[in-house]
Amino acid sequence: MGERPHSRKAWKVDTQVVQGGEKVTFNTPSKITPIYQTSVFTFEDLDHLDAYYDQPKSGFMYTRFANPNHTVLERHIAQLEGAENAVAAASGMGAILASLLTFAGSGDHVVCSTEIYGGTLNLIQKELARLGIACTFADFTRLDEVEAAIQPQTKVLISETITNPLLHVIDIASVADLAHRHGAKLVVDNTFSTPLLIKPLEAGADLVLHSATKYIGGHSDVTSGVVAGHRPSIDRAREIVVGFGASLSPFEAWLTLRGAKTLALRFRKQCENALKVASALAQHPAVTKVYYPGLEGHPQHELASRQFDKRYGAMLSFALADDREVTNAFMNGLEWVPFAPSLAGVETTISHPLRTSHRALTPEMQAKLGIHVGLIRVSIGIEDPDDIVHEFTQALDRSMGKR
Ligand code: PLP
Repeated sequence: MGERPHSRKAWKVDTQVVQGGEKVTFNTPSKITPIYQTSVFTFEDLDHLDAYYDQPKSGFMYTRFANPNHTVLERHIAQLEGAENAVAAASGMGAILASLLTFAGSGDHVVCSTEIYGGTLNLIQKELARLGIACTFADFTRLDEVEAAIQPQTKVLISETITNPLLHVIDIASVADLAHRHGAKLVVDNTFSTPLLIKPLEAGADLVLHSATKYIGGHSDVTSGVVAGHRPSIDRAREIVVGFGASLSPFEAWLTLRGAKTLALRFRKQCENALKVASALAQHPAVTKVYYPGLEGHPQHELASRQFDKRYGAMLSFALADDREVTNAFMNGLEWVPFAPSLAGVETTISHPLRTSHRALTPEMQAKLGIHVGLIRVSIGIEDPDDIVHEFTQALDRSMGKR
């Protein structure tokens, strides 16, 4: 066949700069799913389009709806969490919003753990309240308190597996059982525990979610979220992610999956390090209390040992004197551990719950939970544990005016 009358060669420059590159499809299998950095996919004709609508999961149309980088990440997390399916979201908050709205709407009621990430608290108290979803807070370490908070309109209970920032451990199987006895669903934020410690769906939860910004991504270079569960719940959660515009970018999905592949290596080392650091901190005279489920004095140590198979996570908190000067002296004394208000990267970091994640709580609530100016939260990294212990010890010594 000869060239058409108005061939590519005849294009004027404005057309050449846009259309000049030939569209090429490479039939070369790549080891890693490439980044599909495209907002839209193309169709040959109406038959092709109809085939997509007949079987939407067999192809892709628009990245907000679905993208191959979402799909591979979702399959990966679904497998890790023992779920039928998963949906990726633009952040952990996107995942929390989708999880709650999957089960609750206007006129419904939610029971939420008192000790929860500040963003979740804000979402429930400010935004969901405006949409007509009421909430009661309860201490999820006390089943009687949770049960008392349940109302006839309660559709969902939500809790973290290990709470932020005081590292209480929740008995997921018992809370799931309680929720189901009252006809409600259980949503679990498994960000701190990861599927290496517990798969909440296997313990009876109805949806599990992650801020994949944290351990799943693992390198402090991505913001993303994911929800996993049974297929019908995930189909609904996906509609919410797509409808509210909370879809993950292809590059962020790709980065999250790249990080997720080393989760087991990173997290095992981080858990081992955390136990050593928590034990050392407990010995230091400047430390008034250490919050870590791996320590025998922790109120849920026995539950954690059973539920998590003798690993206790890599987050810990400790209390200095309730004194701003002491806290500043400690922070200034740290030589290489930064104060970074996030967690779960490969580097050890500290954060300050009172002034960051939990600053929106009322002073009464902060006092009730024990979140004061001397409370430091630590995200343990993969460095050598002796160096981490040395770094904290010398900063604690300085906080006591010893150096
Ligand atoms: N869940 C927990 C336990 C968190 O710590 C955070 C953020 O710190 C979130 C959810 C929200 O995640 P993201 O910042 O990815 O939206």
